[in-house]
Amino acid sequence: MDSAVGKRSIFTADFLFPVSSGAVRDGAVLVKDGRIASVGKFSEVREANPDAEVREFSGCAILPGAVNTHAHLSFRREDGPEYGSFSEWLLGLIERLEENDKRLAENATDGAREAVEAGTTFMAESSPYGGCLPYLARSGMAGTCFAEFFPHESGDGTPEGAVEFIMGKVSELGEGLPPRVDARVSVHSPYTVDPESARLAARRTREAGERLAIHLSESPEEYDFVTEGTGGLADIFSSNSWGATGKTPVKYGDGIGLLAPETIAAHLATGVGEEEIEILARSGVAAAHCPRSNENLGCDVSPVPAMMRAGIRVGMGTDGLWSSQSLNLFEETMVAVKLHNFDGETGLRLATLEGARALGVEDETGSIEAGKYADFAVVEVPPSGSDTEREVLEAAAENGAVATVVGGDIVHERL
Ligand SMILES: [Zn+2]
Repeated sequence: MDSAVGKRSIFTADFLFPVSSGAVRDGAVLVKDGRIASVGKFSEVREANPDAEVREFSGCAILPGAVNTHAHLSFRREDGPEYGSFSEWLLGLIERLEENDKRLAENATDGAREAVEAGTTFMAESSPYGGCLPYLARSGMAGTCFAEFFPHESGDGTPEGAVEFIMGKVSELGEGLPPRVDARVSVHSPYTVDPESARLAARRTREAGERLAIHLSESPEEYDFVTEGTGGLADIFSSNSWGATGKTPVKYGDGIGLLAPETIAAHLATGVGEEEIEILARSGVAAAHCPRSNENLGCDVSPVPAMMRAGIRVGMGTDGLWSSQSLNLFEETMVAVKLHNFDGETGLRLATLEGARALGVEDETGSIEAGKYADFAVVEVPPSGSDTEREVLEAAAENGAVATVVGGDIVHERL
């Protein structure tokens, strides 16, 4: 990894897509001390900085690095349970967890590598008790590891004890991390975390000004569990007696204070109607859209266009390799582009700047503009057609990145 400190470098390619402003042909980014110092035509950036080192990527485009708003690094694709209904899949997952834990280091290292090679520069990862944090931290990506906790086995098993335990764990995990990697709390789901623990965790993290990750309104079985206390998840978690609330998962989440601008809610796929969209918009919660996972596990299509129209921040998430095909966020985004009939510009924004907005990190990453960290992906494609953003997205989806740069450091380069 190159050290970016004190160095000025110009990265240039046939096309530059800053996302926050229009595409630039023969564009260039000046990077200084890990941050973007200026953006423009190569000739102009070069003239103003004749001493800077130049990295030229011909036949390529430079775009902001992908921001993955919801991923799990602990799985490798070969070992996964078969796709099917969500509850059947989850049963298979639970059966495999103990065996999987033995491979955690290798899986998470390989998974993070896959994401980096696909041009990911920021990842929100969720794993039990933050188990994947060391591997995220070593990957070169910036990001957050959200530590999931399961109240019955955490602390003294009371809601207070469990939340105290995970808050302590997260602050312990936060020590000695690279500057742009942190640890936060995740309330795993409405069927694994009781309402009191969830409410308390949401309140405590919000008081601390910290982000919170949740899975919400994902599967038909979750919907049945929360509303009626019945169905496949109720069968698995029969001891979790708090279902049957008579409310949809979104209304339930709202009622216990889970929904707030600091919260990133993954999926929002099943049972999200007009009323739910209104609640989500009012609360300011952000959404992580994982269309491939939803399709693979028998969940509904998330009403993303309507959510975006309502002003809800939406980013893209790959989920993990046991529920989806890859950790390539651009590939995930192309699925969303086709599913919702988005143009390439919308797709590129969703994969980058909108993801950063969803996670509240848009001041530091998500677009190529002066002052932000130099986080970008170099993709092999000289765009030629009418929807150049879509061509670039497709190239990144199919072939990954030629180079991935995080905070000015080249963390991946295909030689
Ligand atoms: Zn997930």
